[in-house]
Amino acid sequence: MTEHTKTDGLPDVMPVMPALPAAAAEPLVLDKSRPRNERMASTKIECNACPVLCQISEGRAGACDRYANAGGVLVRVDPVVLLRKTLAEPGAALVPFAARAVDDGEAAANPLATQDEIFVTGIGSSTTYPDYKPAPFIVASQAGGVDMVTVVTEGIFSYCSFKVKIDTDRWLGPEQANVRCSGEVVGHVTTAEYGSQMLSLGGVHHLTGGSKKEGRVTCEMMLALGNKQPVQLSIDGGAQLVVQAGRAPIVNGVEEQRMRVGCGSATVGIFAKQFFALADEVVVVDDHITGVLTQHQAGRCLDMRPSGIRIRGRKSTPGRYFQVANPGTGWGGTDLADPLAIIEGWDAELAWPGLRLLMVSTTGEHAAWFELDAALTPQPRPIPAAVQAVVERIGENCEPSLATVLFLAGAGGSLRAGVTDNPVRLTRSIKDALVNVTCGGAPAYVWPGGGITVMVDVMRMPERSFGTVPTPAIVAPIEFSMRLDDYRVLGGHMAHVRSLADALARGAWHSDGAPTARRFEPIAPANPWPLAQPPLLG
Ligand code: SF4
Repeated sequence: MTEHTKTDGLPDVMPVMPALPAAAAEPLVLDKSRPRNERMASTKIECNACPVLCQISEGRAGACDRYANAGGVLVRVDPVVLLRKTLAEPGAALVPFAARAVDDGEAAANPLATQDEIFVTGIGSSTTYPDYKPAPFIVASQAGGVDMVTVVTEGIFSYCSFKVKIDTDRWLGPEQANVRCSGEVVGHVTTAEYGSQMLSLGGVHHLTGGSKKEGRVTCEMMLALGNKQPVQLSIDGGAQLVVQAGRAPIVNGVEEQRMRVGCGSATVGIFAKQFFALADEVVVVDDHITGVLTQHQAGRCLDMRPSGIRIRGRKSTPGRYFQVANPGTGWGGTDLADPLAIIEGWDAELAWPGLRLLMVSTTGEHAAWFELDAALTPQPRPIPAAVQAVVERIGENCEPSLATVLFLAGAGGSLRAGVTDNPVRLTRSIKDALVNVTCGGAPAYVWPGGGITVMVDVMRMPERSFGTVPTPAIVAPIEFSMRLDDYRVLGGHMAHVRSLADALARGAWHSDGAPTARRFEPIAPANPWPLAQPPLLG
């Protein structure tokens, strides 16, 4: 039993049978060597692709909808996804493995012709669980004349999370605050970055360390996030959110438009020369660092006359103020509806009647123009056209606000046994840059230090890359590509290395729960070809 073993109360079958691929009509041979539950009805088969061990009746799928009993044979329901450098006919690419053995023109007639053009991903590939099986696809190919191998599997990850970057100045909640989904705690607010609020969602603590419902809701939320679907979240003491990878976040029902051009101090510096001569003072309101032009080094370098303005908050350095107001969803990520609230007063020795003051936010979404009257009180006035043009320039320099979702997972555990019988050698080979790690063909960043902790942008992965099992855990594709010689040295399962043509013709090496169909997709334009990376080809 492993860390993701929880079987109590789980259904042995799902009531609805998903559509099976056409190839299920010509099933592959069931591996009779798998352990069976002696009390199980003879019409059922046991799936051991995860610790749940579903007993699946004929024509039904298991609890995760990923495996099914097709005529007494355990099959992987979803097609395995193969990437091509180019795809002649998008959408016409779902083909059963067996049928393609004879009509797959390129692969059957000239296996070498496609070796540099096709990449087998872990999506739909099946898994190595219960951890002693070699990976379902260990595919030899050639890239640039070099003999390569790619080890392909679907990892079952209990140790995984999503880091979500939300481009907004608006305050979403205090750092460390709980993030909830359907009332359950599924993560927390973590350290804000430049122009973005950050969430850490999912992870082993919420998947396994809380109530059963917390684990289930966390798993469902993670599945949706990974598959680029929207999720509704609420932050304790903060905002309500709708987050979807690659889309603008929705904060308290309002879709975000702009990511700020910079902090208040940076905005003052960037636009100082454009403000010069148009305004006597400019205050860029920001929850973190509010900038004041005439006091800022930029204003001093332009020889601007001191305005005598006094700003509330804590002065950091000249023209840069912290904590001018409370965080919120108003001006510049503060709770301000009236920007004048941060002005403590004016030095009568320096200020003068008629002084022209612009107050603006870091996105240019908020702006107001004032002139000091005889009593040195700011009076609102229409913004002059030339000043408005600079305000609009601030807005023009803001990038569109997006939610970015990165999948972070630990692949340093048992799935390594699917690659080699000496798992630490895989870890070392990755650290030595001999192995290129991808997830669904998307480049994965491997964290330094121990283990194999990978991070990947879900937007670079194919659609529906993620699945779940009800242990609960997340299922995600992972591929390890390396030179064939290096694979031999790290103790790879050489007896299971097959040509790409053979893999295309017959599918996974083991019939037990193997995929029955494959689907071609073009590689995402932003992704490099996984087999053409410098560590591999020199
Ligand atoms: S992989 Fe799916 S079908 Fe197989 S035992 Fe686990 S939950 Fe059941």
